[in-house]
Amino acid sequence: MTETQLFGRMTLIGVGLLGSSLARACKERGLVGEIIGTARSQATLDKTLALGICDRVFLDPAEAVKDADLVVICAPVGAYAEIGAAIAPALRPGMIVTDVGSVKQAVLRDLGALIPEGVHLVPGHPVAGTEHSGPEAGFAELFENRHCILTPSPGEDDAAIAQVQALWEACGSRVEIMEATHHDRVLGITSHLPHIIAYTIVGTAADLEESERAEVIRFSAGGFRDFTRIAGSDPVMWRDIFLNNREAVLEILQRFNEDLTALQRAIRWGEGETLEKLFTRTRAIRRGIIEEGQAGTFDAREPRAAAAKTQGPDDRGSE
Ligand code: NAP
Repeated sequence: MTETQLFGRMTLIGVGLLGSSLARACKERGLVGEIIGTARSQATLDKTLALGICDRVFLDPAEAVKDADLVVICAPVGAYAEIGAAIAPALRPGMIVTDVGSVKQAVLRDLGALIPEGVHLVPGHPVAGTEHSGPEAGFAELFENRHCILTPSPGEDDAAIAQVQALWEACGSRVEIMEATHHDRVLGITSHLPHIIAYTIVGTAADLEESERAEVIRFSAGGFRDFTRIAGSDPVMWRDIFLNNREAVLEILQRFNEDLTALQRAIRWGEGETLEKLFTRTRAIRRGIIEEGQAGTFDAREPRAAAAKTQGPDDRGSE
């Protein structure tokens, strides 16, 4: 092992935006000895070899995890139960299984019972992303200066948690440890609610008459454009997030509906003071995010963003 190396062999299950970004970050920084990849299709695996993201690939997930020190599931959350069943017989005591899934209670539900005794399960969620998918979309700087939340079960091995934490920190992330239920509530507000709003707004625009729709696209710079970026996120990934964080999302939507009704009322009755008060409060939140360095106005991906013809300087972070 070299000085910077944290794991001998890392297996990625799913090598799309997240998996390929992790692989690139690990390669660039010499954090793992060998990267093995597996995905649903041979076409994806061929791409990862051509791009130099994986050293070896296997279509069979059990074959891919054999002899790994670290297994990282980077597939949509809805596929976890199937993946868990496929890899469980090949997992050996001492191995660490982690993931990058955007919801966390479902990981314990779908994988917890399948992971054999002595294998460490340390679920994780790098709160970093873009609206792009696939191995070509990844980049090594994705996790820099972003939070990564780990949600191990109480009693999980401290050394295994520390190893996963060290990996994300070496990729440039700030690691937080949190209970899975708390994670799902917090992300329900900060990520899942904005996505459902964006999907709704863009869906409403898509239902407009043909002539109005053309103008919506033409004049999209007036705020709509930012929603289309979020609503352009991967449909399968977001289907799985809403289905697997159902309770928290429904609870937040209920509150959102109540607040929207209150705002509707204020507009109807010309209550300018109410509107101004709210908008002043929300502006303070935006300023707080800028002060935290989480506004995304500095984008480490900028040269690639330009090459990929993405829409603007603040286009990072579908999550
Ligand atoms: P992605 O670019 O669409 O890649 C998904 C990968 O998973 C693909 O390689 C796909 O293989 C593979 N896959 C799908 N079903 C599989 C199965 N049953 N068995 C094995 N591999 C399977 O998705 P992503 O954006 O990287 O997201 C991956 C995970 O990261 C999700 O759980 C998501 O919630 C989480 N996440 C995403 C973001 C974001 O902004 N995108 C941010 C944080 C966390 P094929 O290519 O062969 O279909």
